[in-house]
Amino acid sequence: KTTILLFTRDLRVHDHPALHAACEDAENVVPLFVLDDALLASPAGAPNRVRFLLDGLDDLRKSLHERGAELVVRRGDPVAETLALARHHDAGRVHLSDDVSEYARRRRERLEREIAVAVHPGVTVVPPGAVTPVSGDHYKVFTPYFRAWSGLRWRPVLPAPEAVRVPSGLEPGIDLATFDVAGVSPDLMPGGEGAGRERVRAWLRDHLAEYEDGHDDLPGDRTSRLSPYLRFGCVSPLELATAARGREGGFGFARQLAWRDFHHQVTAAFPRINRDDYRPRDDARWHDDEDALEAWRQGRTGYPIVDAGMRQLLREGFMHNRARMITASFLTRNLHIDWRHGLRHFASLLADGDVPNNAGNWQWIAGTGNDTRPNRVMNPLRQASRFDPKGDYVREYVPELEPVSPSFIHTPWKLPAGLRRDLGYPAPIIDPPD
Ligand code: FAD
Repeated sequence: KTTILLFTRDLRVHDHPALHAACEDAENVVPLFVLDDALLASPAGAPNRVRFLLDGLDDLRKSLHERGAELVVRRGDPVAETLALARHHDAGRVHLSDDVSEYARRRRERLEREIAVAVHPGVTVVPPGAVTPVSGDHYKVFTPYFRAWSGLRWRPVLPAPEAVRVPSGLEPGIDLATFDVAGVSPDLMPGGEGAGRERVRAWLRDHLAEYEDGHDDLPGDRTSRLSPYLRFGCVSPLELATAARGREGGFGFARQLAWRDFHHQVTAAFPRINRDDYRPRDDARWHDDEDALEAWRQGRTGYPIVDAGMRQLLREGFMHNRARMITASFLTRNLHIDWRHGLRHFASLLADGDVPNNAGNWQWIAGTGNDTRPNRVMNPLRQASRFDPKGDYVREYVPELEPVSPSFIHTPWKLPAGLRRDLGYPAPIIDPPD
């Protein structure tokens, strides 16, 4: 008897409920990943994420080889490819990690019309819907969600299977080395479960204790940078939360993982989150300003803290959370440009870019989402002096400002005209706040 395990964004062997269940379910398992032509051709196929995905698949293939198995990688429509493989191996069921985006749900429903599908947790710490408020199907505000989330008993972490039996003569399909991805950010992190687990180990050991105090410090760069690994499931969020819980700094860190779960349960209930306002703002008047939008995208707004963030994104396919908040607030609250433009640009570069967290956070900043203070505006200069007091974050990403002293690093327009000209750094595209 044979069953299929369809990997999606759960590229790991540790703590993988669907893999575990597939191994228990049948004598043989066909581990399958389908490079989805429709996704590759859409904004979801951003080069940084495709590169990260390929690293993840390569690593997963190695882990499966170590367990006596193979990863079948095919290209095309995931439903058609899965069904073709099921027919070929006479498999009666597909195991799949449950996911919340519209696309993931439609893919699952299409499969369910043709074959038995067993869905499993694993994409979040707590499955969406595991906690619900007294009235309504999902939590709209984070604090009560976090209270309920914290009170739940989590399922035990599952070990990686020692062996995975596959049917004889299983063809591996696509050779991943033949894939060339153009337009990848120069300092993108390497993908894969191995790299992700190594980062988890080092980070829990060396930095978790500093997290509560240090996570907003821009130049200190004290956050885990685990988001891309969580995005592709190279790291299990439950295993990570379980390991962090109870350690010094673990509470604040687990709270961030709860934010991730929170946005997933909102998305499950409101799948149009990346297109429509979750809570429309009557007072929102968005301006179309292609020049300002392009200056923002390129990190040339003349506001050093904003430009540093935007250039970190271009260089690394990653941006510090505090910088994401500052740059997103600048776009929506100072330039009055629609959050959907910002979301699309972030999605085109972020290695961790996904619908629930990208859209949930953009809407939070734009005041159309779940923020309990929808009129909050972050003054970029106050944010800069608070979270990058000496300007080291700016110097790291905006080399033109390297020679500028801490007193002027965030306000270069106040420098004498001659000095300013020599820097070759743009003047502010909008009047600076007082
Ligand atoms: P850490 O501080 O080490 O946090 C640990 C983990 O908690 C993160 O890896 C992440 O999975 C989760 N987390 C932390 N903060 C948040 C948050 N505010 N919302 C949801 N999860 C969180 N995160 C994404 O994963 N994908 C996105 O597409 C995304 N887009 C964003 C867009 C905007 C405008 C903003 C303001 C934030 C966005 N975030 C997104 C959330 C957050 O910025 C990143 O998760 C975080 O910067 C990742 O860095 P880290 O792994 O070092 O985080």
